[in-house]
Amino acid sequence: MTGQRRGYTGAVLKVAVPVPLPGVFDYLPPTGEPAPGRGQRVRVRFGRRQLVALVTGRADGSTFPEAKLQPVLEVLDPPEERIPESLLALLEWCARYYKHALGEVVFGALPPDFRKPGSNWPPPPMSMALTAAGQGRLSEPPGRAKAQHRLLSALADGPMVASELLTAGEASRPSLDALLEAGWVEARPTRTTHRSPGDAPTLTGEQDQVLKAIRAEPPGFCCHLLDGITGSGKTEVYLRLIHDVLDAGRQVLVLVPEIGLTPQLLRRLGDRLGVTPMAFHSGLAAGERMGTWAAAARGDAPLLVGTRSALFLPLATPGLIVMDEAHDPSFKQQDGFRYAARDVAVKRALDLGIPIVLGTATPSLETLHNALHGRYRHHHLRERATGAKPPSIRVVDLRARQADAGLCAEALTAIGDTLERGEQALVFLNRRGYAPVLLCHECGWHASCRNCDANMTWHRSARILVCHHCEARARPPVTCPDCRADALQGAGEGTEQLEQVLARRFPDTPVHRVDRDAVRRKGELEALINKVRGGEPCLLVGTQMLAKGHHFPKVTLVVVVNLDQALYSADFRALERMGQVLVQVAGRAGRAAAPGTVILQTHHPDHLALRCLVEQGYAAFARAQLDERRLAMLPPFSHQAVLRADAVDRESLRAFLEQARNAWTGLGMVVHGPFPAMMEKRAGRVRWYLLAQADARGALQASLDQWLEAVRRLPAARKVRWAIDVDPQEF
Ligand code: ADP
Ligand code: ZN
Ligand code: ZN
Repeated sequence: MTGQRRGYTGAVLKVAVPVPLPGVFDYLPPTGEPAPGRGQRVRVRFGRRQLVALVTGRADGSTFPEAKLQPVLEVLDPPEERIPESLLALLEWCARYYKHALGEVVFGALPPDFRKPGSNWPPPPMSMALTAAGQGRLSEPPGRAKAQHRLLSALADGPMVASELLTAGEASRPSLDALLEAGWVEARPTRTTHRSPGDAPTLTGEQDQVLKAIRAEPPGFCCHLLDGITGSGKTEVYLRLIHDVLDAGRQVLVLVPEIGLTPQLLRRLGDRLGVTPMAFHSGLAAGERMGTWAAAARGDAPLLVGTRSALFLPLATPGLIVMDEAHDPSFKQQDGFRYAARDVAVKRALDLGIPIVLGTATPSLETLHNALHGRYRHHHLRERATGAKPPSIRVVDLRARQADAGLCAEALTAIGDTLERGEQALVFLNRRGYAPVLLCHECGWHASCRNCDANMTWHRSARILVCHHCEARARPPVTCPDCRADALQGAGEGTEQLEQVLARRFPDTPVHRVDRDAVRRKGELEALINKVRGGEPCLLVGTQMLAKGHHFPKVTLVVVVNLDQALYSADFRALERMGQVLVQVAGRAGRAAAPGTVILQTHHPDHLALRCLVEQGYAAFARAQLDERRLAMLPPFSHQAVLRADAVDRESLRAFLEQARNAWTGLGMVVHGPFPAMMEKRAGRVRWYLLAQADARGALQASLDQWLEAVRRLPAARKVRWAIDVDPQEF
């Protein structure tokens, strides 16, 4: 042996394999078929497993000898069904920026079916359309075929996809099949279907100004921040812009935070624009997601609407990206391939050379900072489109006041008055269950989770204790497990308790609870929302689920039960989030003719940030928060990454993190820690982290690359689970 390894000098393929290792892997081209190109999927052997992977390029030679190289086993995609170049380049950028393995980024961003071999692009989605014969049948009386007739009349305004049609016509599939059979209805590719667009309202002066300003931008990339109070008609602005782009034959991608909001928005967009929007979110079946993906790639889907993951839909003819409620925390992916959809969306628009609109009533401090520095165009809508006044906020000091299940007398009286006027009230509490703690009033024992540093929440009607962090469940004891006393009681309150108390207080009024326990099934939330919009007097009790985007014309009172934890949190973003939640919830009040009132209960009525928010509004509050961040050199005035690690025992974890911290000796970035996570123990694992911080994004990026290379070489790095989170949102 000379000790010299000779590399292979023939053609090799660079392949991104879905494993948590950096870089791409060298494979030999398949034997007996043309070599695949960039963006085509292949089947490869990796260790002892066979995996679906993605070709990212070709090269002449490898540093490995031929004997070490494996051939690609099979090419899965025909060249015309490759991942489009612009999308692949974006994913490569994500892998570099977020320091995550490319293979995991790629297969984390694509619909789940891409992980399976042999799933080709499905044919274009079909819509049902009325034929001439069907028109004729519709003009005759329905006779016995009532369901069929309902379907025909649902199609009178224009074609619909089958599932949408069956819902609209309240009919089942056999009725539709009978219509197809009879030739009264036919299936056509969706892209060719157009309905007549609905009527548009006259723009308000502010909307008109904003639209003119946005339209005046030269074509190409531009990031617009549409900073408009709740109810100011941001959606109307999106609609006009989308209309422009669709008219020019280009695609629009609309991103929304919640699946719950998509049906409402889909209908609004479809009705107004006369095209069928296609949805994309994790609530859809894998096949449906694949269908939308392929349609987007072919350019068959002019209008795409989806949640965070829709960001990675291919766009054959991109024209515009709209992100609604752009401040929303759900746009940050919190595990696996951690990314901020808002930032990646802006990067994508830049790459594609198209405009992007970020709409929100409560811009995040990062976004605001960008706008203040002229990187984003800042547009304001300061008045409600319907002419309604913004709600007034009344702060109620809870100290030395009696409260019934968390509601003070003022709140209860205000609710009573609201109902008497035939209006609706909304009670907001961001805590599910009956009580957050089950406590022994004799000895102080309380039910805590075995696996986490957390109390178990008491779900009284379901007779169960649930840990909201790891989902562990236990039966509530009848007597105290420690002192045997019959003195177990709930401490604090959750939405379930509020619902009961309100139902008892207001026995003649329906009380609707909206949280993840009460609203589980698909369509349930939508049905409830439609009922509330119907206008009957009622009480709504719920969590964040209620706060976002919904338009309830009859709600004139909002009671915010408790936001106090945020006021003294160790998380430097807690106040910002509190401000956003308060403004969003408050925004549900008084959106139509009747003026709205918000009652905010607190034990800290003199808290400076809270007073600033209530007295001067979100913009002033956000500026004050920005000033504090500047003084403390916190984001957006510095840039952070977190190296999170978890293990069963604390010792190996700390040892690894100390070594990892010491592995950095450079200048461009400082590494602090190790610190325990906000919740140190979760799901049976101990969690600690290191915080890396730099003044400039570029310095952070370059330093992270060097540091992580050193960290990966540490033997201890193989004994714990760890991951990097660039631009972290939580600790
Ligand atoms: P936002 O998204 O800013 O909270 P929306 O777009 O939902 O606000 O609009 C709030 C309400 O105002 C909706 O009922 C909408 O139909 C109505 N609206 C919007 N623009 C106008 C307008 N120019 N004239 C009349 N009503 C409008
Ligand atoms: Zn006890
Ligand atoms: Zn737990």
